[in-house]
Amino acid sequence: MLFIVICVPMNVDFLIIGQGIAGTVLSHALMEAGCSVMVMDEYKPNSASRIAAGVINPVSGRRFTVSWLYDDIYPVAVKTYQRLEQLLNVPVFRERDIWNVLPSEQLKDAFMERTSGLTYMHVPDNDPYDAFLHQPFGAAVIKGATVLLHNLLPAWRNYLKQHHVLREERFNVNALEIGEKIKYKDITANRIIFCEGSATASNPWFNNIPFLLNKGEVLKVRIPGFYTEDIVKRSITLVPQEKDIYWVGATFAWDYKDELPTAEKREYLEAGLQQLLKVPYEVLDQYAGVRPSGTDRRPMMGVHPEHPVLGIFNGLGTKGTSLAPAMAAQFVTHLLEDKPLWQEIDIKRFFNRRKG
Ligand SMILES: Cc1cc2nc3c(=O)[nH]c(=O)nc-3n(C[C@H](O)[C@H](O)[C@H](O)COP(=O)(O)OP(=O)(O)OC[C@H]3O[C@@H](n4cnc5c(N)ncnc54)[C@H](O)[C@@H]3O)c2cc1C
Repeated sequence: MLFIVICVPMNVDFLIIGQGIAGTVLSHALMEAGCSVMVMDEYKPNSASRIAAGVINPVSGRRFTVSWLYDDIYPVAVKTYQRLEQLLNVPVFRERDIWNVLPSEQLKDAFMERTSGLTYMHVPDNDPYDAFLHQPFGAAVIKGATVLLHNLLPAWRNYLKQHHVLREERFNVNALEIGEKIKYKDITANRIIFCEGSATASNPWFNNIPFLLNKGEVLKVRIPGFYTEDIVKRSITLVPQEKDIYWVGATFAWDYKDELPTAEKREYLEAGLQQLLKVPYEVLDQYAGVRPSGTDRRPMMGVHPEHPVLGIFNGLGTKGTSLAPAMAAQFVTHLLEDKPLWQEIDIKRFFNRRKG
């Protein structure tokens, strides 16, 4: 039997490359603003968004500082994920307590000093975890959340598929024609936006952006008999998945030879587990992926100074889930209404530096 494949040319406002959290949230924001999009994504099981736990934690780092712009970006994240939840009819967003096990008297003092004025921090009256956790210096609770990426990413992919605006293939830079619009095979678009995560480091139009890619590894473990909805954090973080299964992460490595899991990082994560848990656990799996971070740890977005039909939305680093919605909202008003981007997130900061 002879099959004839008819390729109907596709004309859209935006072609988006990548459907991690960046491409997901940006394509949703553009569609909400009334734009037509086509998303192209090559499925990558260990993309940063697929192996992340999606934790939103207002307090970060060894010095327990409040995350960059947290009070402004968090409400945007909540609203965006709630709208996605309604649209896709799957759980996407869950507020959670982060049970911070304090590792020493000195760090307890530092933690209290830094966080005591915050509305989202409190010292618990009772300890539900005494039978399970070693915590000689006590614990403090921070209100955080998780974005259920394992629900959101496939559900958004399905939604795009149902609307015939998803291409599950690898984008090939050599096939891109740049003019007043862009043309890629049968697709014509007013603009193409690269949301390729760590792969953007080798994108020929944006390869002067100083990426500082950062490999992370995680374990999936079972802790028999231990059930909680809280995130538990010490040197490692336990994030509940289902019943007594937990995501355990994450490591950081700037110097790495490939994206595969390593014995060294498994040992590190297991040492953290043994220090934290009073009870046995079983390792079920190990994953590794690369965070798309920049040298100045700020998102990177904007259009190419010489080819404004090319754009980029990237650099979400260690905080993809909390940053993506507010950053996408700002990028959309830039793309559609020409509103200037904040200097610290605009890619002009790299192109200007090159000229100087
Ligand atoms: C171990 C680990 C733990 C983390 N934990 C958290 C956390 O708890 N909370 C948090 O907020 N953040 C966390 N992060 C960071 C977060 O995962 C990232 O900030 C975020 O996922 C980056 O999203 P992205 O869409 O930019 O990139 P990615 O998730 O990498 O997505 C890029 C997509 O583009 C596709 N792609 C690339 N090139 C092409 C091409 N040429 N053609 C077609 N498709 C292409 C890829 O296949 C992929 O699907 C973690 C990261 C890691 C690695």
